[in-house]
Amino acid sequence: MLGSCLCGSIQYRVNEFEPNIANCHCSMCRKSSGAAFATFAGVKPENFTWLKGESHIKVYESSEVAERGFCEKCGSSLFYKVKGNNTGYEIALGTLDEEPNHKPNANIYCSYKAQWPTNSEQLKEYKEGRG
Ligand SMILES: [Zn+2]
Ligand SMILES: [Zn+2]
Repeated sequence: MLGSCLCGSIQYRVNEFEPNIANCHCSMCRKSSGAAFATFAGVKPENFTWLKGESHIKVYESSEVAERGFCEKCGSSLFYKVKGNNTGYEIALGTLDEEPNHKPNANIYCSYKAQWPTNSEQLKEYKEGRG
């Protein structure tokens, strides 16, 4: 599966995501993604390759234990990672250009959840913008 940032400078390949994928509702994930929640999927080092643009990755230390990677050109959030840990990345799933091999199966940090998101299945759908 291929993924990339918004400007396309950075591209990666994932062979296989780990089975437990979560929507994280914590305030840090909301801030860094700019969305109601962020979906991260774990991938082991042996299943992950940066294909191009690794030098464009900037890392922000979001806490004492974790860092978040993003594209220095377009700002796309790319990953969450426990510092100094070589067990792989938690990839920001919205950057994937294909369907992942597993779907999210949990909502985590729900005590920090924003109240405004509505169950999106209940909203009227348009194929493009509202027109
Ligand atoms: Zn970019
Ligand atoms: Zn979070």
